[in-house]
Amino acid sequence: MNTLYLKSFIRCKRKAWLDFKGDKSYEVWSAHKAIDKVNQYQIFSKLCNGEIYTGLKACKKGYQGVIGLKIKGKFFQNVNAEIHPQLLLRTKGISKWGPYKYLPAVYKLGHKTTKEHLFDLAFSSILLESFEESKIEKGFVISSFDKKVNVEEIYLNKKLRKKVLNVLLNLNECLEGFMPEITQDRKKCTICSWQKFCDKEAKENEYLTDIDGIGSKTASLLKINGITNTQTLASYSEKQLGKKLSKFNDQKYEKASIFVKQAQAYISGEPYFISNKNDNDDLLEKTCSGFYIFDIESNPDDKHDFLYGFLKINNLFIKKEDLIYEPILNLKNNKGESYRQIIKILFSHKEWPVLHYGETEKIAIINIAKTLNFSFEEIDSLTSRFLDLHTYIRKSWILPLKNYGLKTVSNWLGFEWEQKNASGSKALYWWIQYQITENEIFLKKIIQYNKDDCLATLQILEYLIKNQLKKN
Ligand code: SF4
Repeated sequence: MNTLYLKSFIRCKRKAWLDFKGDKSYEVWSAHKAIDKVNQYQIFSKLCNGEIYTGLKACKKGYQGVIGLKIKGKFFQNVNAEIHPQLLLRTKGISKWGPYKYLPAVYKLGHKTTKEHLFDLAFSSILLESFEESKIEKGFVISSFDKKVNVEEIYLNKKLRKKVLNVLLNLNECLEGFMPEITQDRKKCTICSWQKFCDKEAKENEYLTDIDGIGSKTASLLKINGITNTQTLASYSEKQLGKKLSKFNDQKYEKASIFVKQAQAYISGEPYFISNKNDNDDLLEKTCSGFYIFDIESNPDDKHDFLYGFLKINNLFIKKEDLIYEPILNLKNNKGESYRQIIKILFSHKEWPVLHYGETEKIAIINIAKTLNFSFEEIDSLTSRFLDLHTYIRKSWILPLKNYGLKTVSNWLGFEWEQKNASGSKALYWWIQYQITENEIFLKKIIQYNKDDCLATLQILEYLIKNQLKKN
């Protein structure tokens, strides 16, 4: 039993069990975890003015911040426990080391203080008290907004300690038992290191939450109505299902039809064409005399778009090797120069549409245009050139996939990223590494990744156009 299992347990019981007993060869490296660690260290270091050291010696010397400690102890019915306090912060008081003591602190990403932070602090405080021979009445949640460090005090009262003891007891029971079921809330799985392992099992067991658009609530509703797996859903009458989906109001029949077809596609592996509207004809017409593909890499926590990538395509028949890719780096977030370059590219072919995948790029361009004091009409005319292929694909196809993200769709179409297991969060991890080391190799990796994102978007465009032509 340790802090890491407790954190996992709060998110997903199964994750705690897998962290403890799972076959580690199925676990995948998580960029999120790595980013968290780096951010954590940087913020803690700033908070302690750089006086941050590792291990027990650092406590004895009374340094401001101590990291990397593992403290063993026992709680409740003699269960062995181990805490890994993220940070111990020196404060006034008396402890076994002298006229000071340490209080636990945890790092928080985002605005919300959650159970995970509170329980982590409360668990730490229980073992820390006997370790330091001092009363631990409070802990801290540390976060950073707009590059400023925020410190929130959390009083570790009896009620909170009692709660965490109950959770620890449940955790102990879970770790001793069989592997828990896959969580109903599959959104949690997207950043989990066991995702591949659980996805395989979910598919084999025909979990309803594998179907795009079906979350835990809809899955429960379907189960109440006797639809317990994807196979049953795929063979269900759309009309009958619509009657049962009253929670979707006017959209109930439309939703039912999509769910059934999505389940059929998922099982058969065959895509299903749903639109006869001329959207994709329009796409062919709009792109035939040239277009750009645009993709951004950003650090959302710092609100910093650090790379804008443009792929220039004169026509669809041009060889991939002859395409011109132009990356615009915005290393210091001093927007002027990069904005000027973006506008220069966009206006070098005023008639060309700009293709992108997802909403981010269009929102970014609106903000850039506003910053540059474009008039309402100018912004309107610029954004009307932006075509979101994610919307196009969703409107016209039901694909045999779990989701419609760029990676999932283009991988299905056979596209391969040059760098293995690349992802948006890995690109962010490289960016953070670049900021720390200033090693250009990380920038090269980010640029290659962004270029591949643009090429993957191009592959989706080709699919849309080619298949539309076949349907006509
Ligand atoms: S992938 Fe999902 S179900 Fe599996 S351990 Fe992670 S969060 Fe839990």
